[in-house]
Amino acid sequence: MTNTTPTSPLLLSIVVPCYNEAEGLAELCCRVEAVSVDVVGPAYELILVNDGSTDDTLDVLHSLARTLPNLVVVNLSRNHGHQLALSAGLSVSSGARVFILDADLQDPPELLAQMMLQMDQNKADVVFGQRIARKGESLFKRITAKLFYKFFGKLADTKVPADTGDFRLMSRRATDLLANMPEASRYLRGMISWIGLKQIAFPYVRQPRQTGHSKYPLRKMIHFALEAITSFSIVPLRLASYTGALFGIIGLGLMAYVMRAWLAGETVQGWTSLMVVVLVLGSVQLLCLGVFGEYLGRLYMESKRRPLFIIESITRSDNT
Ligand code: UDP
Ligand code: MG
Repeated sequence: MTNTTPTSPLLLSIVVPCYNEAEGLAELCCRVEAVSVDVVGPAYELILVNDGSTDDTLDVLHSLARTLPNLVVVNLSRNHGHQLALSAGLSVSSGARVFILDADLQDPPELLAQMMLQMDQNKADVVFGQRIARKGESLFKRITAKLFYKFFGKLADTKVPADTGDFRLMSRRATDLLANMPEASRYLRGMISWIGLKQIAFPYVRQPRQTGHSKYPLRKMIHFALEAITSFSIVPLRLASYTGALFGIIGLGLMAYVMRAWLAGETVQGWTSLMVVVLVLGSVQLLCLGVFGEYLGRLYMESKRRPLFIIESITRSDNT
């Protein structure tokens, strides 16, 4: 293994973020190697990003780099999360085209040849996988994913095609544009849509996970959805203003009613109505504050201008 950078131009970089994926890595590397050699010959690199795994992922990757050619093991200093691990891999890549895969083989690497063909025929900058079926995913995940895409489509100006993940083939031009976008909140599929250029869908059937379990529990899914919405839309802020205006109008109406009652000398009983008003107004105010807080927090994180990720080491197979 060496720590030098390659000199010959590469036709393809395959980027795979890996978090606690030790069991599946050998199969992943063998399948990717076979496909890559078939499609572009030896001029490829397989970049595997270890995202602070707590299992044997790093050791397995290092031992694979001793036996297999064209491997680049990027070791992050800690767990940065899927989107940043992917960003780190993209920043290291140098191939003319970049193929993004998950480590669990849900997206079959064997589709590379057809995706390359689509890119050539359509002169596209991005060929993105679009799931026509999701095998082995729970009903809950499928329903929440569908709801999220509907909601996101309504709120965001940037249109992200439904049922896409990060599985895609990108040109060097699109990859460089993406890698140069400085934001820390990275919803990559949204950022890629935002770039524009020619992007075409590639329908495919998503397979069940081969080994291990999903790294997206409900908590992370909610976080991911919030990140996506706040990165691509300020509609929630606008809704907060509209809610304020609506309650203002209702408030004026109620004030007129109360004044009239006072002038007419009617005695006020109203503990119940008072409690209702206080509780409703209180919760709406807190909700709006929460929405502001989400944006303010993100603004704060962005304003720190910290590096997106820390690469602890890069290890390459001997032939690269
Ligand atoms: N992943 C990562 N860092 C994380 C979580 C996930 O690098 O903090 C990787 C993971 O190893 C996999 C990909 O991101 O290669 C997608 O994760 P997963 O398959 O768990 O997501 P799902 O397919 O269940 O949505
Ligand atoms: Mg998966």
